[in-house]
Amino acid sequence: MMYNPTQCPPAAEIDIPAIRAKYRAERDRRLKKEANDQYVPTSGKYAEIYEHDPYNPVEPREPILGETDVVILGGGYCGMMVAAQLKLAGIESFHNIDHGGDFGGTWYWNRYPGIQCDNDALCYMPLLEETGYMPSKKFTDGHEIQAHCRIIAKHFGLYDNALFHTLIKTLKWDPAINRWHVGTNRGDDIKARFVVLAMGPLNKPKLPGIAGMDDFRGKMFHTARWDYEYTGGAWGKPELDKLKDKRVAIIGTGATAVQVVPYLGKYARQLYVIQRTPSTIDFRNNRPTDPEWFKAQKPGWQEERIRNFHHAAMERLAPREPDMIEDIWTELSRNCNAELEAEGWPDITPEEYARRREEMDYRVMERLRARVDAMIEDPATAEALKPYYRYLCKRPCSNDDFYPTFNRPNVKLIDVAETQGLERLTEKGFVHKGEEFEIDCLIFASGYEVTNDLDRRWGIDAIEGRDGLSIYDYWRDGFKTFQGMMAAGFPNMFFTGFTQAGANATNSKTFIDQGRHIGYIASEALKRGAAVVEPSQEAQDAYIAHLRSVAVDNSAFVNECTPSYFNNEGDETKKRHIFGEPWGEGYYAFEAMIEGWRAEGAMRGLVLTPETALEPAE
Ligand code: NDP
Repeated sequence: MMYNPTQCPPAAEIDIPAIRAKYRAERDRRLKKEANDQYVPTSGKYAEIYEHDPYNPVEPREPILGETDVVILGGGYCGMMVAAQLKLAGIESFHNIDHGGDFGGTWYWNRYPGIQCDNDALCYMPLLEETGYMPSKKFTDGHEIQAHCRIIAKHFGLYDNALFHTLIKTLKWDPAINRWHVGTNRGDDIKARFVVLAMGPLNKPKLPGIAGMDDFRGKMFHTARWDYEYTGGAWGKPELDKLKDKRVAIIGTGATAVQVVPYLGKYARQLYVIQRTPSTIDFRNNRPTDPEWFKAQKPGWQEERIRNFHHAAMERLAPREPDMIEDIWTELSRNCNAELEAEGWPDITPEEYARRREEMDYRVMERLRARVDAMIEDPATAEALKPYYRYLCKRPCSNDDFYPTFNRPNVKLIDVAETQGLERLTEKGFVHKGEEFEIDCLIFASGYEVTNDLDRRWGIDAIEGRDGLSIYDYWRDGFKTFQGMMAAGFPNMFFTGFTQAGANATNSKTFIDQGRHIGYIASEALKRGAAVVEPSQEAQDAYIAHLRSVAVDNSAFVNECTPSYFNNEGDETKKRHIFGEPWGEGYYAFEAMIEGWRAEGAMRGLVLTPETALEPAE
């Protein structure tokens, strides 16, 4: 089959049952009985990998023992959106507390060469209308996104009370004063009326548990803490000239590695790319934003674009709805609609649409596999780099330089699918199928703690609500929340992201909406003279019952995928996975539900206790 970068082969030209069987076989051979336990946390002897900041020195400061209205754990997109919404709701007294040295979260820590957002910047970057900011191109560079984070922080005056290079270690509810005690690694003990957890889903790097990890004597680092001292170059200037006499191995071929590998291949003397599961990698088609187009946009354009993206990527485009995004995320919807249009928009059932979409999925994946053949000279390497799973089983990538890197004489793919990882590390390098490969440097592009237990992921020693109840114990078997953002027994505490809310993975609208909701509840509680706001058990139970009654069971799709953090590393027995328990009626139905709840103004389901009703001190 000839490769055409934009056209999928017709269904009649491909053997779908055979491909389906191949997908199953590829999944089965990657299932590891250890599942999540195959990874080593970046704590204990590996804590330094997570805790150090290679970019900015940690300045000494005195511990803070003061009081504030709100502590927001996190200064990434979510933490900033919550802070901005608190300001808009009239709350001025708060701290964003972050482990990093500035705002940005993942965009603070990730400075690896080639870093760009894989999503349409006009959807992904928040508050473009509010800040008047025009992203320079469709897939924006990491340093531009970080600069925009600083613009947002200045716009909303968030720097005044931000505490950087500070890790929250304990959060304990004190009923005697109706405040949270916030303890940090800097000796702080801050009393906060409210606490918002906004640590993001991908904040703690993880390492593969390879035998002999401690034997290796060369350089090791994780992509989220790129060591430009060692590699040469700088953030935004990826000339890695110090690697020219170095033998480098990188573990992983996920979204991060796909961006890094072309730079390592270009500069390192020798590069080994250690791959267990290939990514889907389309052509990039990155392009500058047209300033005239940008200027001509009417108020509300970003919301409209995000909604269109959401339809196309996460649900389905309505008949005749245009695809404004036009990239790999929206291809299935776009192609399905193009066919329906050609047929004169027949009135089809949801089941028929699902059937067509599944067929389109096989066709798009065939196109992507043909792309590998078209770009890679060595047939065995090309075969190993072909992804065999349904589209969206893994985060889709687009990159023009990744595949050509494998045509360089200094680059070798080490395919560890069959052996489920490397055999071991040694003092001098790694062993694969009995052969030792000597290296100077090992780079982990091995991802983040996403599906492990929360205490391991969050790295906070204790989060204790009423009667010392630990959130880790309370949620051990799954989330229990009201509206995904509060929990009975944890007064004045707010959660964000993927819990039991309608969270949406690929843009920051969720954070803005959650921030708005949290800002509303906190400010209303203050206005109404309440010291404590907490869901009633009854309201929480009813919320969960409703959430489950409208849940959409996508396990048939997810469980057929090759293992990854999207599906609990293939472990079907554990319920919790990255997306928590999303609102089955869809994101916009969730948004309408919480907006309607706010419009009622009754704070239905929440119990407000006045400041005077303090529990007696023990
Ligand atoms: P991922 O978790 O997506 O990938 C980790 C990689 O490490 C996988 O290829 C995995 O293989 C591999 N791996 C893990 N253990 C081993 C092992 N023992 N041997 C060999 N390989 C191993 O992490 P990333 O950092 O790539 O991406 C994480 C997320 O960050 C993305 O999904 C995305 O959400 C985000 N991201 C976003 C970007 C953006 O543009 N907005 C850019 C980069 C990242 P296997 O698949 O077999 O488990």
